[in-house]
Amino acid sequence: MLLCAAAAAEPPDRVVKTDAEWKKILTPEQYKVCRGKGTEKAFCGLFLDTKEKGLYVCKLCGNPLFRSSSKFHSGTGWPSFIEPVSPASVRLEEDRSFGMVRTEVLCARCDAHLGHVFDDGPPPAGKRFCINSVCLDLVTSPT
Ligand code: FE
Repeated sequence: MLLCAAAAAEPPDRVVKTDAEWKKILTPEQYKVCRGKGTEKAFCGLFLDTKEKGLYVCKLCGNPLFRSSSKFHSGTGWPSFIEPVSPASVRLEEDRSFGMVRTEVLCARCDAHLGHVFDDGPPPAGKRFCINSVCLDLVTSPT
């Protein structure tokens, strides 16, 4: 079920590949998390404690997803963000797997599974975008 109607307009530069094509390009871990809706181990991700300034983009398609200024330390074991670069950069879907009702976060350009969004983030928005490092690349700002 699509929860975010505002993001329903598809970006013009959608990246669409078959499962077999993704499997060829991605590492097994990337494939498992980003195409198989898996979760990387807590406290192990590459960007968990990264404080470098820059733009986090989708590892699979380069779509800008989160600004480093939106990153915060949640203590949950995964990189956490207050908000995406724009509402249209991600797609939110209801996820009823594992006997829970959660909101899944996907890349709006290539449909990569990125993580989930929870309502226990800092005020005022109160959102915590809980994102797997393996789905991200950090494009650092020139100094
Ligand atoms: Fe993507």
